[in-house]
Amino acid sequence: QAKRTPGTALAMAEQRFEQMSSLSLENEQALRKGIKQQEIYLDYQPKIDAVSGRLLGFEALARWQRPGIGLVSPVEFIVIAERTGLIQELGAVLLERACRQIAAWRAELGDCVPVAVNVSPLQLLNRGFPQLVERILADSGVPARCLTLEITESAAVDNLDDTQAQLQRLSELGIEVAMDDFGTGFSSLGMLRQLPLRTLKIDRGLIEPLPAPDAVAVVTAICQLASALNLQVVAEGIETEAQAKAARDAGCQELQGFFYARPLTVADAGDWMRRLLAGEASGGLRDAEPVAG
Ligand code: C2E
Ligand code: MG
Ligand code: MG
Ligand code: MG
Repeated sequence: QAKRTPGTALAMAEQRFEQMSSLSLENEQALRKGIKQQEIYLDYQPKIDAVSGRLLGFEALARWQRPGIGLVSPVEFIVIAERTGLIQELGAVLLERACRQIAAWRAELGDCVPVAVNVSPLQLLNRGFPQLVERILADSGVPARCLTLEITESAAVDNLDDTQAQLQRLSELGIEVAMDDFGTGFSSLGMLRQLPLRTLKIDRGLIEPLPAPDAVAVVTAICQLASALNLQVVAEGIETEAQAKAARDAGCQELQGFFYARPLTVADAGDWMRRLLAGEASGGLRDAEPVAG
């Protein structure tokens, strides 16, 4: 291996830095264009009633089909969007998209299949966010009860007062709010009673080791706490029947994960829904029953 003098190392670091910043500028421009050209869309992952096996709704998950590169994970492009401020525009576009989908399914079924949309802390803490949501619901003709917003612990931890105020406005509109990835962050438990939440979503990291007894103990404790605070519990990342059983027995009301379905295209999600309406099994713990309404 060639010896490097400190001067060369510095030059290389500078070159690398230039490459990185031109790469991130390239990413920013590509993302800006991707939003405009509708390269970013939503997949829908079913949420299942732990006891009846019925479909309860979907979580909308963003996907970017980037020309010349292929499918980019939201873990990557949401970060770019947050760093560049594009998250406000992207978030609004995705929320509109999800609400139009709720409206389309509602027109078909006569009732809404609730959809949960992920919201970045930067969106949530934007002062105009509640009005934006209100306008999008009104424009798409979707009742607020059909929409859930998933927020992460980190927003709440860093800005408890602002988060509390924003969530209060949203819940006054009739929107349900879920705390996503619960159990991984640094939230104080006391925070839970200060926020108008409907649901806790237990992070996949705590579900993965189920049915190991210590993992069962943790999930059971979360469910007991949630029940005492009048919160619903969703277990995310259910991949096996054993995990599904353990999560249900621990007290989780809703299950979501590859065991039931991967995130689906709009068309596949629609088929899934129609199959359930026709009375076919969901592949869950019990046979699915028709969706009510
Ligand atoms: P999340 O909201 O916690 O979403 C759950 C993630 O787990 C999704 O990854 C989903 O595809 C994946 N998943 C679901 N079931 C299973 C399973 O059984 N096993 C495993 N291994 N994974 C499972 P995805 O779609 O890559 O999204 C990652 C994260 O990106 C999301 O985590 C969310 O934080 C963020 N994200 C996705 N879409 C949006 C969006 O529209 N807006 C914002 N702000 N963030 C989004
Ligand atoms: Mg989520
Ligand atoms: Mg999650
Ligand atoms: Mg997660």
